Amino acid sequence: MIPEKMFHSLLALGESWRIKQVEYVEKAGKVLIRVEETAALWPAEKCPHCGRATVRGYDHAPERRWRHLNVCQLQSEIVCALPRGECQACQKVYTVRAPWEGRSRGQTQEFEAFALTLMREMPVKKAGEILGETDQKLWRMLFAHVAAAWAELSWENVVWVGADEMNRRKGHNYLTVFVDLAAKRVLLATEGKDASVWERFAEQLLAHNGHPKAITQIAIDMSPAYIKGVRENFGNATISFDKFHVVSQVTEAVEAVRRKEVRQDPTAREQLEKTCWLWRKNPESWKPAEQTRWEQLKDKPLVTGLAYAMRLQLQRAYATASVTEARTRLVDWCAWVRAEAQALTSGLLEPMRKAADTVERHLEGILGHWKKGLTTAFLEGLNSLFSATKRKARGYRSTEYQTAMLYFVAGKLQVPYYG
Ligand SMILES: [Zn+2]
Repeated sequence: MIPEKMFHSLLALGESWRIKQVEYVEKAGKVLIRVEETAALWPAEKCPHCGRATVRGYDHAPERRWRHLNVCQLQSEIVCALPRGECQACQKVYTVRAPWEGRSRGQTQEFEAFALTLMREMPVKKAGEILGETDQKLWRMLFAHVAAAWAELSWENVVWVGADEMNRRKGHNYLTVFVDLAAKRVLLATEGKDASVWERFAEQLLAHNGHPKAITQIAIDMSPAYIKGVRENFGNATISFDKFHVVSQVTEAVEAVRRKEVRQDPTAREQLEKTCWLWRKNPESWKPAEQTRWEQLKDKPLVTGLAYAMRLQLQRAYATASVTEARTRLVDWCAWVRAEAQALTSGLLEPMRKAADTVERHLEGILGHWKKGLTTAFLEGLNSLFSATKRKARGYRSTEYQTAMLYFVAGKLQVPYYG
């Protein structure tokens, strides 16, 4: 098979186009695939203005190039002066669209598909190095595909929603991410973490064939702004506070106790040095060194140790399958924490008492965890998803890049998208 014929079938050009020449340009290290139209193009062509099949060849546009898949590890490009047609019915002249053209200018669909596959597996920067393209160019391609595919998404079956904030440690550039808990996909990422993000989500639901009134369950953290936003925009929804956020709030309280104790007590300061991560983990996740450290500390009269035991006890409340039993365990937990805090004149357990107040105040929502059917597992996995997203978008911190990458990796979009 001669190369021209082979490339013709590889590019699936059909009868309307032919390969004029395949040329290896040694100096540039490139393979140029020169393509031109055949006489079969015009009878099959429909005028983009009036839709009639009354187009004749007029002239040619200036030559253009499209990056294509590598050939024998050499970059290849399609070179073509696209024909311009004139409609005999409406007299308009236009440039024929190249069937191989990707969503971004100067790249074929096959090249885009390959680049997007790489970008799913590695940071964009790395994909750029492999492909010999700037990462800006790859990002532009990703934006174009993601935006087109996202706009077409239907959210008509969305009834269980979760929301969480990304970048919570940065102090700025907050993103609230809304997810479909049943279909396990990211729906929307929008800037901010105040009540107004819920308004924007309601608007987008309507724009994607969904409806705020169809949402029956919403899982969030206990932030007052989120609660307000849900109440104002999603009147039919029951709020539940997911386990991950409840436990992590109490974990933060343990850390606050540790910091207080280190400040107040020189002996404790020595004992608690470099134990921050120990108290953040569950015993089964401790490394051998952390286990040893614990053995040394467990009999010391540390308030941090007591606070840690309180957190573990709260987690045990989640072990029951019965909502009645869970209610009893949580109420008992709050009473126990408050009693211990009151008995301690140093005030070191104050952060734990506050956490107990929060749990009590949000008890009904916390018990939503035991409601039949609602799974927040996807919501609990969001933090690792966020980290993966940031790794892939390395060097690009703006919300625009993070949002596109989030939709790309977790939005279940149809990408590449040429619809
Ligand atoms: Zn026409």
